[in-house]
Amino acid sequence: MQRAALGWRRRGIKIGFVPTMGSLHAGHMSLVTEARRRVGPRGKVFVSIYVNPTQFGPKEDFSKYPRDLARDAKLCRAAGVDALFVPTDAEMYPRPEGAAHSTYVVEENLSATMEGAARPGHFRGVTTIVAKLFNLVLPDVAVFGAKDFQQAAVIRRMVRDLNIPVKIIVAPTKRELDGLAMSSRNKYLSPDERRQALALWQAIQAARKRVRAARRGIPAATLKKQLRAFIHRQSAVRVDYIEFFNPETLLAEKTVRRGTQMALAVFIGKTRLIDNARL
Ligand code: AMP
Repeated sequence: MQRAALGWRRRGIKIGFVPTMGSLHAGHMSLVTEARRRVGPRGKVFVSIYVNPTQFGPKEDFSKYPRDLARDAKLCRAAGVDALFVPTDAEMYPRPEGAAHSTYVVEENLSATMEGAARPGHFRGVTTIVAKLFNLVLPDVAVFGAKDFQQAAVIRRMVRDLNIPVKIIVAPTKRELDGLAMSSRNKYLSPDERRQALALWQAIQAARKRVRAARRGIPAATLKKQLRAFIHRQSAVRVDYIEFFNPETLLAEKTVRRGTQMALAVFIGKTRLIDNARL
C-alpha cells in the first residue's frame, strides 16, 4: 500500500482518502465524491474498510458490527474508487515477536467530553488507527463526515499537533428522507425502533426552532431538560447525553444561541446512535 502510494505521490498524482468501517451507505459515498472532487480526475481515491477493535469498548458492538465486503466493493467500484484497502487485524496490529501493540496516539483535550466521556478509550483507538492508516495510504487529502463531529475535530487536532502532512476535509451529514442521519448502525433497528429513532433529528429541529425564536440565548440546562423530556416520550429511547458547545473549541456553552453546536447520543433499545448540528 505504502509503496504504491509513494509511487503515485512521486509522479505528482494526488491521493484522496476516505477511512471507513464498511457497511457503506450514501453518507460514505458522499465522502468519496468529495475526495474525487478534491483530487481531480487524474488523482487516486482510496477507501479503507477496517472495523478497528481498539475503538470499541468491551461491552460494545464490535463482534456484531455489520460487515458486507462484497456489497461494499461493488459500491466502491461503481463510484470510481481507485483502490479499496481492507487490512486484516494481523496487518494493523502485528505481533511479530508475540508482543502486543503498545504505541498509541492520544489526543488529550477535545477527546475528553461527549463520545470520549461516554466511551472511554474510543478516541485513543480512533486516533491511533487513523494515524496508522495515514502512514500507509500517505493521502494528500482525507475526508471525514460531520456526522461524527467530535471525531473530525479530534483528527484535525491530531494532524496539526503531530505535523501530519494531510489536508482534512469535513463533509456534511447525509440523512434519510425523514431526517435520520445515515449510519451503518441503523441496520440494527427494528421497524418500531427505526420510527422512534427520528427523535434525534426531531430534537435537533426543536432546539433550532427554540433558538431561532428566542430573542436572547437560552440557558443550556433548561433546553437540555426540555429536550430530554421530549425524547423520552419515545418509549424505546434513552438519552445518553445532550451537549451544547462551541463548534471550534468544543467547550460547553452555558447559553445556547444561533451558531451553537448541539450533539446528542441516545440508546434505542440496545442500539446507540449519535447526531449533531449547528443551531
Ligand atoms: P464509519 O464507517 O461509521 O466509521 O464512518 C466512516 C466515515 O463516514 C466517517 O468520517 C463518518 O463521519 C462518515 N459518515 C458516517 N455516516 C455519515 C453520514 N450520514 N453522512 C456523512 N458522513 C458520514
